[in-house]
Parts: sequence; C-alpha cells; structure tokens
Amino acid sequence: MPINVSQLLKASIGSRRSYEVGETINIAGGNSVVQGKVGLMRTDRSILVKGTLRTEVEVTCSRCLSLFSRPLTLNIEEEYFPIIDVVSGAPLSLPEEPGCFTIDEHHILDLTEAIRQYMLIAIPMKPLCREDCAGLCPSCGHNLNEGPCNCLPRRTESRLSELIKLTSANDVSVNEGKGTK
Ligand SMILES: [Zn+2]
Ligand SMILES: [Zn+2]
Repeated sequence: MPINVSQLLKASIGSRRSYEVGETINIAGGNSVVQGKVGLMRTDRSILVKGTLRTEVEVTCSRCLSLFSRPLTLNIEEEYFPIIDVVSGAPLSLPEEPGCFTIDEHHILDLTEAIRQYMLIAIPMKPLCREDCAGLCPSCGHNLNEGPCNCLPRRTESRLSELIKLTSANDVSVNEGKGTK
C-alpha cells in the first residue's frame, strides 16, 4: 500500500497521521485481504509506522493435511527512512541496519513488503486445523476428524477385550484375598 508522506516529512517531529489499510497480499499461494489501521509518526530521522492489522491465510493442517483458513493478527512497528531530503532533494544516508525500509525519491512509503514479512512470521510452522485434530489413520490414510475408519474399531475392540480379561482376573484374586481374612 503506497502512501505519499511528503507532507508528513515536512511536518514537525512528533506529527501524526493515521491511515486505513485495505490491501490484498499474495502469500502462501493465495490472496489474503489485510485490514486495519496504522499510525504514522514523524521522528527526527524517519517515519515510524505502528498499527494492528488483521488477515486470514489458507494453510494446510500438519496432522490431517486439510486446508483451512487461519486468522492472523499483525502488530506492525517499523521505521521508514527517507532516501532524500524532502525540502532540498539531497540524498540522505541510511542507517546500517540490514533490510531497513525506505521512503523513495517520490516520498512514497510502501507498506506491502513489511506486511508480507509480518505475515510470514505470523504463519505457524506446524499449523493445526484445531487443537485436538485427530489426524490421519496411519494404515489407510482416512481423515479421523470425519469419524473412524474401517481399520481402527477392530484394533480398539481387541485391546478392549484383552483389558476386560485382565480386569476380571484381578477381580478374582482380590475376592480370594478377602475371603482368607
Ligand atoms: Zn487437522
Ligand atoms: Zn484406517
């Protein structure tokens, strides 16, 4: 989102402007609409951008591999450095910070790249469609969130019958112990 900040660059230190953000960002193979408000403040050397933006991205669940939409909140805080002096047009030296954001020679501050970077950081490495996602059956690949598959109940039944055998055996020994007292 390009914002012309020539007026703000001419304003006194501490001057503020606020902008509504409504931008479509192409990320993670899809388009995400980013919305919110940012405040721009003139500092002695830059324009400080601060704001909270909201968006949603399509991600793949790391357990069941289904696509789902995950909301993201982006707390943006970035300094943008002008490459030329707004009054004289003379080039300005930039700080030695790697990847610092700049305001171009037409006094355009572009938020797009910062929003994209904040989104990349906010997308979880191993997203889950829900906290208790049941995942896929390891033998047939069925999505267990949609209900049990044909291989799972058989295994559960056999385990359950073994458990019942064990419990009844214990019951017998307990009863015998009680009887001898
Ligand atoms: Zn899942
Ligand atoms: Zn299965």
